[in-house]
Amino acid sequence: MSAAVANHKKLIVDNGKESHPRAFIMIIDDEAYNCEVLKAMILSMGVDPSRLIVCLGGKQALERASDVRQTGGVIKLVLTDLSMPTMNGYKFIRKFRKQESGDRQGQGAIIAAITGHAESEFFLKALAKGANHAYSKPVSSSSI
Ligand SMILES: [Mg+2]
Repeated sequence: MSAAVANHKKLIVDNGKESHPRAFIMIIDDEAYNCEVLKAMILSMGVDPSRLIVCLGGKQALERASDVRQTGGVIKLVLTDLSMPTMNGYKFIRKFRKQESGDRQGQGAIIAAITGHAESEFFLKALAKGANHAYSKPVSSSSI
């Protein structure tokens, strides 16, 4: 992943006292194994487990994000799969951005879309829906 993602991670991990007391990172993938891999990667960077929200689908993730906002929290970083049943990653990203636009805090999350496809059309579509970055699976910790 990019420096932008790393900077957001740094904000949460290294500047804990100055960062938002209720800042969160979301991981979304319909395959539990992929969630575990991403979770391990993020935790290995020193992120407090209590700052991580792991969801197996877009719908659940939107509900969790809404809960976070309603309780005064902010989502700083989102790592989301694109191919998911019920609500795919594209739809999730679009709805997340819409939800975010009504957020008084007005702090946009960094969204990194992660896809099993290597073709640029999948990346471009994710960016068009509101993602900041798009990556092919598997994502390595060195790219973060
Ligand atoms: Mg998937």
